[in-house]
Amino acid sequence: MSTITEAARQTPVRKHVDVLVVGGGSAGLAAATSAARLGADVLLVEKNGYLGGTLAMVTLGSICGLYTVTEADVIPVVKGFAGELIERMNGLGAVKGPMRWLETASLLYDPTAIKLVADDMVTEAGVQVVLHSLAVGVVKDGARITGVIFEGRDGRWGCTATTVIDCTGDANIASLAGAGFEHDPSVIQAPTTMFRFGGVDTERATAMTRDELRNHLEKAVAAGLPLPRTAGGMFSLREGAMHLNITRVLRGNRSPDPLDTEEVTSAEIDGRRQLKMYLEAFRRFVPGYENAFIADIGSEIGVRESRRIRGDYWLTLDDVLNEARFTDSIACSAWPVEEHGAGRATKWVFLKPGTFYELPFRMMLPVGIDGLLVAGRCSSASHDAHASMRIAAVCMALGEAAGVAAAQAGKGDIRKIDIGALRRQLEKQGAIVGPLPGSSSSTKAEQVTPA
Ligand SMILES: Cc1cc2nc3c(=O)[nH]c(=O)nc-3n(C[C@H](O)[C@H](O)[C@H](O)COP(=O)(O)OP(=O)(O)OC[C@H]3O[C@@H](n4cnc5c(N)ncnc54)[C@H](O)[C@@H]3O)c2cc1C
Repeated sequence: MSTITEAARQTPVRKHVDVLVVGGGSAGLAAATSAARLGADVLLVEKNGYLGGTLAMVTLGSICGLYTVTEADVIPVVKGFAGELIERMNGLGAVKGPMRWLETASLLYDPTAIKLVADDMVTEAGVQVVLHSLAVGVVKDGARITGVIFEGRDGRWGCTATTVIDCTGDANIASLAGAGFEHDPSVIQAPTTMFRFGGVDTERATAMTRDELRNHLEKAVAAGLPLPRTAGGMFSLREGAMHLNITRVLRGNRSPDPLDTEEVTSAEIDGRRQLKMYLEAFRRFVPGYENAFIADIGSEIGVRESRRIRGDYWLTLDDVLNEARFTDSIACSAWPVEEHGAGRATKWVFLKPGTFYELPFRMMLPVGIDGLLVAGRCSSASHDAHASMRIAAVCMALGEAAGVAAAQAGKGDIRKIDIGALRRQLEKQGAIVGPLPGSSSSTKAEQVTPA
């Protein structure tokens, strides 16, 4: 391969802040807002023209990870920033639930409203926001990250910071800083192109069970439409509209590599090709969809998994399934292990009813790098544990803890913060750091068709 030698350049440093948050998804929104509310000078930088990350750009239909469930109750395990975001969404009529499905429950939401709520929450908190800027480099002093370089609409610029929080989902900053990570395309979960049908008879469609949907779509497969999945998530928040989590894009027998430009390009095109096939399959074979049309497609393919950093603590499957407890716990989760691998079925392993596991602060600290926290789906976890902790509410809880920690660290070392003070502040904000408050906060839920 031939190469081009680029000329050396002087990059302007446009900002110096206490806390620099890169990536404005679930984790980044929570991190930036929480840090700014505690008085830190915070800059949030995002490559898209809007905030919300996967929740907005991939158009999911539900926020998962908020609850643990028993036969009788749906009990919150994540509140704090997530609870406030949901309250604001509720004010716009943009959430519904909790809805029970399989052996869990989630909250349906409108992915367009999240963009509006996200803008309000960060700006009201006093966060400085820069959109349309992609992080492309880091500046280090020994083991310490001291700044990040961005490529914006008007060229390159830099920001220096006391603490950087990597909320890019792909651990882009940690990777640029030389942190260790795991990323193996032969193991990672497959991506999904998400979309929304309009023109659906939602009364009939929402009455359908998972098995009924599978039977209808298996008929489509028998008729020659090679659908990669015949059961999937169907979420309806508005009359006539149905969110579908049902495509599965593979490259041979493995996931395309979301960090490889050529592979992710062909995955985007393949995902949209699948949509045309699903449109035909639903119209012809699934009752209630006779007049369906594609109303909306995620602005990029939904990547479930890429880099997971090697942190001071590595969350394991045993932690997830056996109610792990940590002295530095900063969040809780009860989401099942939900794995979208090759093949038409999705693997689910549920936690025992009413149980949850804790997530330690150390899983956000990349081994050997100072001044950096990594929050969200790229925090330190094994592939199996990630299949549970990667969901939106848990990413918000991790981000909230990262933001509070960075504000509390001030000019000091993020590894030396007072964990007791961090946990107390999170609880003051309504976050659940474990153990769970009494079950009096539980709520009843409706039933919805599962993924
Ligand atoms: C298909 C699919 C379906 C899912 N379904 C559900 C569901 O129903 N419910 C649920 O709760 N969860 C679901 N998830 C999981 C969940 O949505 C994500 O794991 C979670 O939202 C990740 O949050 P995050 O903040 O870690 O990352 P993201 O939300 O991905 O945010 C990362 C942000 O960083 C930005 N960014 C990335 N790189 C850079 C850079 N170099 N410079 C600047 N900005 C950058 C991105 O644009 C993005 O805004 C699903 C995921 C997928 C892919």
